[in-house]
Amino acid sequence: MEKILISSCLLGNKVRYDGQSKALQHLQLSTWQQQGRLVLICPEIAGGLAVPRAKAEQKDGQVITEQGEDVTANFMEGAAMALALCEQYNIRYALLKEFSPSCAAMQIYDGNFNGTKIIGMGTTAKLLVEHGIEVFSELTIEQLISKLKISGQ
Ligand code: SF4
Repeated sequence: MEKILISSCLLGNKVRYDGQSKALQHLQLSTWQQQGRLVLICPEIAGGLAVPRAKAEQKDGQVITEQGEDVTANFMEGAAMALALCEQYNIRYALLKEFSPSCAAMQIYDGNFNGTKIIGMGTTAKLLVEHGIEVFSELTIEQLISKLKISGQ
């Protein structure tokens, strides 16, 4: 059965920078969980960052905290670990948290820490897509469900 990579915070784990989760309430998640299809990762923790941690945003190809620290290396390491998990489990689909500098599928914050969103992908999402993995978010979970149904998965 096809496995799905998922952002850990979407499953209710308190791994976000502020020590909170972003639990996604959707019946399908419970089903997938019971089927053992979900492979969890928080790329920022996988990249060596702690909970809580400084808020970070992408800016000019780097990831910078609100205090000005360059954490790009941590983000890239976390992305590489997410990709390694996908390769290990032959994962072709990921369900990641929108707006995150790591996980976003379509929109990120613009790097000025003022709440402005722009079109862009998180560092992990981008690396996965570059390797042929389709990335969905909590906003497009229905598309992922349809896709799996159509392919009989
Ligand atoms: S890096 Fe991804 S999984 Fe980790 S807290 Fe942020 S959005 Fe959630």
